[in-house]
Amino acid sequence: MDTIKDRTMSVYKFGNKKADGRKELKNLLGGKGANLAEMSRIGIPVPPGFTITTEVCTQFNQEGKKAIIDRIESEVREAIAEIEETMGAHFGDDENPLLISVRSGARVSMPGMMDTVLNLGLNEESIAGLVEKTGNERFVWDSYRRFIQMYSGVVLGLKPENKEDLDPFEEIIDHLKEKRNIDLDTHFTVQDLKDLVYDFKDIVKKRTGKPFPKDPWDQLWGAVIAVFESWNGDRALYYRKMHGYPEDWGTAVNVQAMVFGNMGEDSATGVCFTRDAGTGENKFNGEYLVNAQGEDVVAGVRTPQQITKTGSRRWAELAQISEEDRAENYPSLEELMPEMYKELFGYQRTLEDHYRDMQDMEFTIQQGKLWILQTRNGKRTGAAMVKIAMDLLSEGLIDEKATIERIDPIKLDELLHPVFDPKALMEATVIAQGLPASPGAATGKIVFFADEAAKYKFSILVRIETSPEDLEGMNIARGIVTARGGMTSHAAVVARGMGKCCVSGAGALKINYKARTLTVGDHVYQEGDWISINGSTGNILEGKVATKEPELSGEFGQLMALTDKYARMQVRTNADNPKDALIARGFGAKGIGLTRTEHMFFEVDRIKAMREMILADTVKGRKQALRELLPMQRGDFEGIFEAMEGFPVTIRLLDPPLHEFVPHQLATQRELAEELHISLANVKQKVAELEEFNPMMGHRGCRLGNTYPEITEMQARAIIEAALNVKKNKGIESQPEIMVPLVGTVEEFLLQKSIIQQTAEEVFNERKDKISYSIGTMIEIPRAALLADKIAGHADFFSFGTNDLTQMTFGYSRDDAGKFLSVYLEKGILKEDPFEVLDQEGVGQLVIMGTELGRQAHPGLKVGICGEHGGEPSSVEFCHRVGMNYVSCSPYRVPIARVAAAQAAIKESALMV
Ligand code: PEP
Ligand code: MG
Repeated sequence: MDTIKDRTMSVYKFGNKKADGRKELKNLLGGKGANLAEMSRIGIPVPPGFTITTEVCTQFNQEGKKAIIDRIESEVREAIAEIEETMGAHFGDDENPLLISVRSGARVSMPGMMDTVLNLGLNEESIAGLVEKTGNERFVWDSYRRFIQMYSGVVLGLKPENKEDLDPFEEIIDHLKEKRNIDLDTHFTVQDLKDLVYDFKDIVKKRTGKPFPKDPWDQLWGAVIAVFESWNGDRALYYRKMHGYPEDWGTAVNVQAMVFGNMGEDSATGVCFTRDAGTGENKFNGEYLVNAQGEDVVAGVRTPQQITKTGSRRWAELAQISEEDRAENYPSLEELMPEMYKELFGYQRTLEDHYRDMQDMEFTIQQGKLWILQTRNGKRTGAAMVKIAMDLLSEGLIDEKATIERIDPIKLDELLHPVFDPKALMEATVIAQGLPASPGAATGKIVFFADEAAKYKFSILVRIETSPEDLEGMNIARGIVTARGGMTSHAAVVARGMGKCCVSGAGALKINYKARTLTVGDHVYQEGDWISINGSTGNILEGKVATKEPELSGEFGQLMALTDKYARMQVRTNADNPKDALIARGFGAKGIGLTRTEHMFFEVDRIKAMREMILADTVKGRKQALRELLPMQRGDFEGIFEAMEGFPVTIRLLDPPLHEFVPHQLATQRELAEELHISLANVKQKVAELEEFNPMMGHRGCRLGNTYPEITEMQARAIIEAALNVKKNKGIESQPEIMVPLVGTVEEFLLQKSIIQQTAEEVFNERKDKISYSIGTMIEIPRAALLADKIAGHADFFSFGTNDLTQMTFGYSRDDAGKFLSVYLEKGILKEDPFEVLDQEGVGQLVIMGTELGRQAHPGLKVGICGEHGGEPSSVEFCHRVGMNYVSCSPYRVPIARVAAAQAAIKESALMV
C-alpha cells in the first residue's frame, strides 16, 4: 500500500515499487523527487532512496544548519536504514559500504542549482571492503577519485581560481594523461587512480585548509547543506530572476543508493528523450557510454554514443565517421545491448504515456541490470514544443485544452526568429561541423568567456564546454558553440531550454582561452571575429551569413486555429504601415488596435512639411503646410485599409510633443532656415519656444489637437477620404476607428469629437458618399480612468494606453525610468518592470475601474488595450479577466497574445466548473 505521509514529515522514501510521495507533490518534493516516487509507484526500477522536502530548505534559510540537522536527523537515519536493507549494504561500513548520491531538485528543473554528488560514503577505510566485494580495484579507485572531485567542486567550492584556468582537478588529470601519454580516463591504471586521489586530497587541504572529510555522515550533511545553500547561490538567483521563480519555493534534496554504470563492459549509463527535443519529431533518441558514470555523458570528455541505430547512423554522417568505424567503435545501445535497449524502450513508452508528455530520462545499466534514475518533462525548443503538443493531441494523449495549456506563449517567439537565407548559406564557407544541438541561425562575434558575452551587440559564445556558471552569458549571446559534448551536454540542454541556437561537440575546434583564439586546421580566429552557426545542421560558418524570415510549420497554423476556438478576446496589432499590418495579418491579427500616425511624419520626404507646419506663425501658414501633408497621410491610410481588408483599424491622432519634430543641431537648423527661407534666429527661437521641462506631461496628445484644431481636421479628413477611396477603388468597406489620445477631461474629448464629426460631414458632402466610422479615446491618464463614466457616455470605444497609464500612475517617466528600474528590480522593490508586465495591483485597479465605469454609462462599450502589455501573457490574462474585447500588440507578439488569450479563457472555464 502506498501511504501519503504526515505533512509534518521532512523525509519521503521511495524504492521497491512503492513510495511515500507521488507526482502531484512537486511543490513539496521537487520535480525530481516527485517523479522518482511516481516511477517507483508505477513499477519502474529506480534505485531506492528518499527526498528531503523543499519545506526543510525554507526552514534552513530561516533557522540555519544546526537546527535543521537536529530536526531531520532521526528521519534521515531511518530512511538510510531502509536503503541499507534493500541494497544489503551499510552506510559507513568498512567491509560492505553503501554508497549514495545526493542531488538537488526544485519544483522546476533549474540548471543553476547544485549538481549531483556521486559515490558519497567512500573513504580510505571502506575502499578495501568495496574492492573485496566487487573484486574490481580499478572501479573502486575510480569511484573514489570521482567522488573527491565532485564533492570538492560542488560542496567544498573548489573551482578554477581564474576564468582562464581549467578546473583544478581536470588540470591534474590532464597532466597525468600527458605524463602517461594516454587520451582517455579509461586507460588509467589503478596506480594512476591512486595517485590522482592523493593529488586531489593535497589540493583540497591546500585550498580549504582542512583534510577531505572522512566520516560518511559528515560527507552526507555537507552535501545536504550545500544543496540548500545552492538555492541562494548566484547562478540559481539569476535563473530564478530570469524565470520569476519566488525565493520561498526552496529546493528538495534527493538521496539515493548508487548504481554503477562503470562496473565494466556490461555496464553503461545514458540520457534519453522520448521525442526529439530540437524538432519535436516522435523519435526515441539519446546518448550513452559504456563503463561510465552519468556525468561522463554530459561532461563531454568522452564522445557519447547514440541509443538507437538510426540515430547512430545520422550522428556518424554528421561527424563524418564511416559506417565501419561507427559500428566498430561507436555502436548504438540497440546494437550493443539489444536486451537492455528493449527494456529501456518499453520504459520510455510507459513513462511518456503515463506523463502524457515528452520525457527526458537518465538511466544506468549495472552489470546487466537496468535502472532508471530520473524522468522529467523534457526541455525543448519552441518548434518542438508546438510539434509535440499537436502530435500528442492527434495521438489522443491530450485534449485540445491541454494542448493549448502546454504552450509557453513566450517560447513561440523563437519560431519567429530569422533563419539563414539559403542562397547566402550556399555561398558561405563551412569552417567546422558539430552536432545540431539546438536549432536556429545565429551570427555574431566570437567571445570566449560567458561574462564577456555582452562585449559585442551580437556575440557567439565559443567554449570547450559550458557549465552552470555560464548561464547568464549563454542567455546574452546570440548562439553557443562548444568543442566538446554531445546532444545532451550542458550547453545543448540549456540552449534548447532557452531557445538559443547551439552547435555542440565540434571537435575540430581548438580553443585557447589564454590567447583568446579559436584554431581550426591552420586558420586562427580571434576574439571579435564574426562567425555564424546553424543549430539545425551543426555547421559553423565563416563571417556574417545573411538571414531571412522563417517559414512556419503546419502544426503552428493548427495551433493558432485552435486558439480561436477557445479565446474570447480578439487579438489586434499595433501597426503604422501596410508592411507591419500584413505581417500581423499573417499571424492572424483581427484588426489594428493602434496606428501611431506620428510615425508617418518622421519619414524624410514628410518631415519638411511637418516642420513647416510647426514653424508657421499663423493659422493660415499652418493650414498651408497641412495641405501638403494631407495627401501623404491619406496615402498611408489607404495602404493600411487595403492591407486590413475590412478589419477594424484604430487610428490615433497625433500624440507626441512638437519639439520632437524640429532639429536641435545647429547644422540642421541652418539647413531648415535655408529651405524655408526664414532666418536661423527665427528657427532657433521657435525651437526654444517648443522646449519643455517635462515633454511627457507637456504639450502632446489631444492638447495639440485642441490648441491646433487644424491638425485634427487634416488627420480626420485624411482618414475619411482614404476610407472612401478604398471603398470606391477596391470595394473594401473599411472600419476606421478614430482615437483621441491623452484625454483627461471629457471636454477635451468632446472638442476633438466635434472637429472629427464636422470634418467627416464635410467630406461626405463633397464626395456624395459615406462610410461608417467611430470615435473613441485612449484611457492613459489616471483622471480619465477615474471619470470613465463621463467620457464613455460620448465615446464609441476605450483603448487602454498602459504605457502612459503606467508612467503616470507610478510617476515614473518612461524616458528616465531606465536609470533606477534595474536597481529597483535587483533590490526587490519591484518584482517586474511595470513597463513590460502590467502592474495588476496598482495600474490594474485603474484599468478595472475605467472598464467598469465606462460600461456602466455605456453598456456594450468596446474596450481594448494597446500599450506594450497587450502582448505579454500575464497581462493578456488580466485583460481577459477584466472583460476586454481585444488586446493589441506588435506584429510578432500576435501569436503569443493569441495563445495567452485562449489560455486565459480555458483557465477561467476550469474555475467555473
Ligand atoms: C500607451 O501610452 O500605452 C500607448 C499605446 O501610447 P504611446 O506608447 O504611443 O504613448
Ligand atoms: Mg500613450
